[in-house]
Amino acid sequence: MSEPRRYTGAKPPLTLDTEATFLKGAGPAVALRLRALGIERVRDLIFHLPLRYEDRRSHQAIARLKPGDEVLVRGQVVTCEQRYAPKRTLRVVLDDGTGSLLLRFFHFNEAQKSNLQNGRWLQAFGEVRGNAAGLEMVHPQYRLAEQAEELQPEQGLTPIYPATTGLTQQRLRQLIALSLQVAAQDAALGTKLPGLEAPDTLAALQALHHPHSERDAAQVLAGEHPAQRRLKREELLAHQLTLRLLRQRQKSRPARALSDPVAATRELRAALPFALTAAQQRVLDELCHDLQQAHPMLRLVQGDVGSGKTVIAAAALLAAARAGFQAALLAPTELLAEQHQRTLARWFAPLGFAPALLSNRLKKAQRNQLQAALADGSQAIVVGTHAVFQDSVQFAALALVAVDEQHRFGVQQRLALREKGGAHVPHQLILSATPIPRTLAQTLYADLDISIIDQLPPGRTPIQTVVLSNEKRDEVLRRIAEACAQGRQVYWVCTLIEESEELDAQAAEATAARLRAELPQLRVGLVHGRMKSELKDEQMRAFQDGATQLLVATTVIEVGVDVPNASIMVIENAERLGLSQLHQLRGRVGRGAQASQCVLLYQPPLGETARARLETMRATTDGFAIAQRDLELRGPGELLGRRQTGEIGMKLADPMRDAALIPPLQRLATRYLEQEPALAKLLIARWVGDPERYARV
Ligand code: ADP
Ligand code: MG
Repeated sequence: MSEPRRYTGAKPPLTLDTEATFLKGAGPAVALRLRALGIERVRDLIFHLPLRYEDRRSHQAIARLKPGDEVLVRGQVVTCEQRYAPKRTLRVVLDDGTGSLLLRFFHFNEAQKSNLQNGRWLQAFGEVRGNAAGLEMVHPQYRLAEQAEELQPEQGLTPIYPATTGLTQQRLRQLIALSLQVAAQDAALGTKLPGLEAPDTLAALQALHHPHSERDAAQVLAGEHPAQRRLKREELLAHQLTLRLLRQRQKSRPARALSDPVAATRELRAALPFALTAAQQRVLDELCHDLQQAHPMLRLVQGDVGSGKTVIAAAALLAAARAGFQAALLAPTELLAEQHQRTLARWFAPLGFAPALLSNRLKKAQRNQLQAALADGSQAIVVGTHAVFQDSVQFAALALVAVDEQHRFGVQQRLALREKGGAHVPHQLILSATPIPRTLAQTLYADLDISIIDQLPPGRTPIQTVVLSNEKRDEVLRRIAEACAQGRQVYWVCTLIEESEELDAQAAEATAARLRAELPQLRVGLVHGRMKSELKDEQMRAFQDGATQLLVATTVIEVGVDVPNASIMVIENAERLGLSQLHQLRGRVGRGAQASQCVLLYQPPLGETARARLETMRATTDGFAIAQRDLELRGPGELLGRRQTGEIGMKLADPMRDAALIPPLQRLATRYLEQEPALAKLLIARWVGDPERYARV
């Protein structure tokens, strides 16, 4: 972000790119709160959409109110009294000529009380409730005046925005109204965009901030308003354009062509203790084709948990090393990096390559030595976490980067990778953690080619999944005790209770303590997200080595850990998790020779969607089928204006929910790139921002 500009003379006109602090009413304190909502520029304000609307367009007659109504009323104060039973309360009675309504306040000050004099006019907005004596409003929003005429209803529906402490709805409304005025002056917002239907961007935004009618508002809340459809399509198109442009630019840059990747895969195959599946071989063929090009490979490998993606990465690393260059494998955690390094060391030993581990746990001298070997090119293959890509790590001739468990890697990280290869861009191989349906993959990874491993290695015993109510907990404990007595190991997963890692960690600790008391004969370990990573790794290692039998964990164990002897997983409150997360978790068992079980414990009563999710888990272990079902179960009923967080970073569209909109937009994107480059740029700037960053790579 640039320094805020300071103007001394006349103020230049505001534009959508002006920082929000330049708006009237947005001082430094407000700016700070806006930032908490992800709002920095005027542009961000127009995209800050309402969660819902309130109808304050007319005064309702008190005589006709019913409990549950949310209404605006206007009348004269006829009583105002303070009571102390059972607690300090201010009771105001309002009369509008048709009837009277009680307003009750628990929090009030003396000034408020003395302002509420008999005979004054008052306008209140709130929810009507029934009480023993009649109808009332508790803590309504209100305004006072001497004359009835000073209290007028609002012109349109009142938008209610996602807010944050210290930032009132009124302030947000005012800032957004100003921003919409700026937007109305912005010629680009009215530009006609071929292939996108009416209303245009500006009209669509106006319609969402201020729907014309109740019918419009209802359509918006149901996610069915044409304005929403227009904006979602626009955003999905912009995203598609960004990634495709990125891809074009990448593909036109030089990379190191590998001399004979096919020979490398042949060697690896001979060194492996198993035969490749047909699917693995097919993906390797695709890979080998890419690696011989003098332009970077950009390939995503999708495959279910346990489908054998590591072999693919191994082949790519080997091909680079064989050709005389360097290659790196990145894992999301230290533990997983270690695990990969061990596996690769085993596979590569007969081929004369020893992959190094770049770990936080290396002593300074060891680390320096390794870094020197990477810088002079004598170390060909390195495995590590993102630390590998710290500035201090330099490569002599990095030809390939493989990234495992892609869901931790957003577009920004992908960009960072591309900056490590010097004059040459490294080939990129990305292994996804979660299988996703094809249309979705083509949206999120439109810059990548996609290979799919749609087959599991032979001889796996399917995991048996049972869904049990918490009331059966004792039975589950009995079975765990038996299994552990036979030498098996068990994961016990505690799911999120609060939106706080801290409380989560406490809950996991409490669960571990309880299980230790209930199963005193077992050695119980514990990992959670608040632990220092060394402690976490220590606990994981103890479990891997069999020193602990039961591992209590939060969802931190989701990613890639391989403990083949662990054959039972209990997931507590499984109803709280989404399907893909459940599937990832379950993938931690079923990795050894013995039959595995997964117990999904739930807290009754179960909602309909939760029931359908658990039933899906019980019925199938196919990750692609689960991903598809996940999509179906999401439905359109989500809140408008909910900001997508994380790697996707979309404002309105949800590529899962809006998957059906995508295929025609892919064709439209092609048309824009070929015929409308200026409009493509405009859309990217509008929705994705910072086109310079994309231009640089
Ligand atoms: P993923 O990363 O796709 O979840 P892994 O690469 O960790 O899966 O492989 C899971 C297990 O299956 C590993 O123990 C691996 O050695 C083994 N494996 C991989 N490919 C095959 C195969 N073709 N035949 C038998 N076992 C395989
Ligand atoms: Mg893996």
